Amino acid sequence: MQQPRISSTLLDRLAAVVGTEGIVADPSSTRVYECDGFTLARKSPDVVVLPATVEEVVGVVKVLRDADVAFVPRGAGTGLSGGCLPLEAPVMVGTSRLRQIREIDLANRRVVVEAGVVNLHVTRAVMGEGLLYAPDPSSQSACTIGGNVAENSGGPHTLKYGVTTNHVLGVEMVLPNGDLIELGGGVEDVPGYDLRGLVVGGEGTFGIVTAATLRLLQAPQSISTLLGVFDSVAAACHAVSAIIAGGIVPAALELMDQTIVDAVEAAYGFGFPADAGAVLIVELDGVAAGVEGEVAAVREHCAAAGAREVRVAVDEAERATLWKSRKKAFGAVGRLAPNYCTQDGVVPRGKVPDILEKISAIAQRNQLRIANVFHAGDGNIHPILLFDQRDEDEVKRVLRAGTEILEACVELGGSVTGEHGIGVEKIDQMPLLFSPIDLRVMQDLRKVFDPNLRCNPGKIFPQPGACVEVTKPMRQVPL
Ligand SMILES: Cc1cc2nc3c(=O)[nH]c(=O)nc-3n(C[C@H](O)[C@H](O)[C@H](O)COP(=O)(O)OP(=O)(O)OC[C@H]3O[C@@H](n4cnc5c(N)ncnc54)[C@H](O)[C@@H]3O)c2cc1C
Repeated sequence: MQQPRISSTLLDRLAAVVGTEGIVADPSSTRVYECDGFTLARKSPDVVVLPATVEEVVGVVKVLRDADVAFVPRGAGTGLSGGCLPLEAPVMVGTSRLRQIREIDLANRRVVVEAGVVNLHVTRAVMGEGLLYAPDPSSQSACTIGGNVAENSGGPHTLKYGVTTNHVLGVEMVLPNGDLIELGGGVEDVPGYDLRGLVVGGEGTFGIVTAATLRLLQAPQSISTLLGVFDSVAAACHAVSAIIAGGIVPAALELMDQTIVDAVEAAYGFGFPADAGAVLIVELDGVAAGVEGEVAAVREHCAAAGAREVRVAVDEAERATLWKSRKKAFGAVGRLAPNYCTQDGVVPRGKVPDILEKISAIAQRNQLRIANVFHAGDGNIHPILLFDQRDEDEVKRVLRAGTEILEACVELGGSVTGEHGIGVEKIDQMPLLFSPIDLRVMQDLRKVFDPNLRCNPGKIFPQPGACVEVTKPMRQVPL
């Protein structure tokens, strides 16, 4: 049996802080934590520590500081770039037991939640008051606020409402030296550097976020969700451009290609036409009178772009099913191939047809099937590369195609990640966007928080010896 790299003395000290119920050290159990949603890279931590209070997080981090041991924060493990892979860190600190909603401040429309609170639970806690928390990753029924903060997560509704950083007023965080600090706060702006903004999207390299103050929005008076059915992805893309050029900013504008539609249909039976080349989900919200006008305009734009059908969800149940088909699309992909890898890149919105064309050529060149489901309004693409892990050559082609897709995004004026972060997956692509000096400045900044690089080492920055070797996966973790 594999022996842990950390000493029994250290284990005892950690257990003294969190109790034995907060320690996972048995290799058969730590294996559960060997990867996130980016299943091509795996490594089990030696020990997983699960503090249940902020005081315990502070205690754990101080024990690790004294022992000079590196650690990696983890939320729900739904990340898609290997961000919580325990690369050079034997200890994983999971924040999923920090589940308190500390304060609901209706007057100021904000909520203070601990890092382990599941995204969807924030909205559930306030929906009775007609409020919501806007960032809604498709993984929102599982992912945590700590992970959302670390990844600056987006989601279908971030087209209109912005990503996580636009909704986080403040963060409470334990620095790698054990200091508990607060950045930002309960008001719209605080003097001094925006360190809150730095930590949001910092991919867990600055410390362990223990709580966040989140902005709440008034739920819209009226919501209409439309489904446009097109013969081709190109036609659906035309509709996207026309809608935005027409001055409408939908709450969400999501595109699914034929492969995804087929999988979703087989899984949920929503009633998409079997031969649809692509479907667009368009959600419009706001005051009722305005929404009505926008629905009519979107219908016209879709028809002009060649939609063969435009359907408006007649009630909340139909709307919910439509969103289920979109948000569970990744799950439905399991029907198409034993394994898949979700890429994440972004291009200027007008370049979406170009990147889709390039993806299609990349798929052909590498003899792969690639499906597309993505936030079309943001230009944030999510090509899903289908493969069978038992085929080593196919795995190699998947990795090569992923790189080619990201290079194509950069060539078109975009970036190598729209919302899933760099993690380990995209380390090698960072130099496509940043000069060695840019990268050094960023790392210098990181060292202000973590001088010894003990918090989530080996992520984001290409460093000799620090990159993970992506290998043949052992199995696909169901998402
Ligand atoms: C089916 C599916 C759909 C998805 N859809 C979307 C989407 O629409 N939009 C989107 O943006 N993402 C999406 N994702 C990606 C993922 O859900 C998000 O990145 C999410 O924010 C990760 O949260 P988590 O709690 O699972 O974090 P983890 O995966 O556990 O960790 C992610 C990163 O955050 C760090 N971290 C976690 N908790 C903390 C903490 N308390 N303090 C400091 N650092 C921490 C980790 O070290 C790691 O670097 C999807 C994933 C799946 C599987």
